[in-house]
Amino acid sequence: MPELNVNPQSFDKKQLMLSVEEAQARILEAILPITTKERVGLRQGLGRILADPLLARMAVPSHRNSAMDGYAFRHIDTDIHKAFYVAGVSMAGHPFHDSLDIGQCIRIMTGAVVPADADTVVMQEHVSREGDIMTLQRIPIPGANVRHPGEDLCTGDAVLPAGRKLNAADLGVLASQGIGEVDVLRRPRVAFFSTGDELKGIGEVLQPGDVYDSNRYTLFGMLNKLDVDILDLGVIPDQQEAVEHAFAQASQLADVVITSGGVSVGDADYVTDTLRKTGTVDFWKIAVKPGKPLAFGKLNDRCLFFGLPGNPVSVMATFLLFTRAAILKLRGETMIELPEYSAICDTPLQKAPGRKDYQRGVCHLDVRGQWHVRSTGMQGSHILSSMSTANCFIALPLLAGDVNAGEIVNIIPFHELL
Ligand code: AMP
Ligand code: MG
Repeated sequence: MPELNVNPQSFDKKQLMLSVEEAQARILEAILPITTKERVGLRQGLGRILADPLLARMAVPSHRNSAMDGYAFRHIDTDIHKAFYVAGVSMAGHPFHDSLDIGQCIRIMTGAVVPADADTVVMQEHVSREGDIMTLQRIPIPGANVRHPGEDLCTGDAVLPAGRKLNAADLGVLASQGIGEVDVLRRPRVAFFSTGDELKGIGEVLQPGDVYDSNRYTLFGMLNKLDVDILDLGVIPDQQEAVEHAFAQASQLADVVITSGGVSVGDADYVTDTLRKTGTVDFWKIAVKPGKPLAFGKLNDRCLFFGLPGNPVSVMATFLLFTRAAILKLRGETMIELPEYSAICDTPLQKAPGRKDYQRGVCHLDVRGQWHVRSTGMQGSHILSSMSTANCFIALPLLAGDVNAGEIVNIIPFHELL
């Protein structure tokens, strides 16, 4: 076999970058879901991940009951009778306790217990009533309008599987079982801080060259959507010691630490310097725009670390592309993929081959159910307002070049994620 003549020098630098998909796969591989449980009240369980499978502990409904407002009787009596004596009433919560003689019926309401002697309910619209006599106008089939015990759930049925993210219907099903508390997985604790001497907090006066720290607000907002415990550790100055101290503190407090800024190769990128020493963090160049530099690893044996780039759009894009799925997996969720759709691009887009672009777009569905998208305009990673205007990413493949208006592109709606 002829040997491949590969000269590393001949590689285009861009080819050495990690693809988005590979970075995503490596991150997810490194994550084991939290298994610690906690017991919470049913309402607090909404949106949480069920720790153990739940089996029905009783039948629902627990008694035979009527599906209609009408009259309950024995069907076999219709061989002789069309008119029945109304011997009593069964209302929801107030059963009829006596027995029924031949030719007798009872008035019955939806949900009320069907007495043991009766097997059929006729809806009230199909009878005439005069005094205590009910006359059938139409004869229902035997067993009509009777709901049986266990039609919804039988004792021992698997009600909800472990790992289920509890929704409103689930809370109702659990309530129907009389279950008032559930064991759910502990929420991940996520800490974040910004790095940079130029960053000022709201209310502070900006000196020349300063900017207000916006990343802690976008991160706060996106984390809020993931139902995690959030720790905002503020702004850390560009000093080796301060950065080291911040990492030591954060890794004690949190399951995940996210930083923004300081992961490129500038003179003041102390995040990189500090973490290189630990050796458990990888510094990746990802073939993605925005957000090329990304640091990922562990700060100790359990605390995950994401070093996101500093530019405001890069922070949001890398969080949504890489960190979000990791946190969802950590909190025990299984549905973590972001759905992509094909859309007609209504505006031309500029794109250089070599990186996968996540441009900001505004998408809508037309009357025929076809997605359309247009660019928000300037695509610099510092144009944070583009994220505010946009409701989707336009994902353009690594090798793609410019896009003409009318061409088909992939979009990833993110309105719900922010
Ligand atoms: P860095 O990655 O630290 O080199 O930062 C890249 C760019 O993002 C610089 O223009 C920073 O001023 C800006 N930046 C970094 N962190 C933040 C932040 N928290 N809020 C707003 N801009 C930031
Ligand atoms: Mg910086």
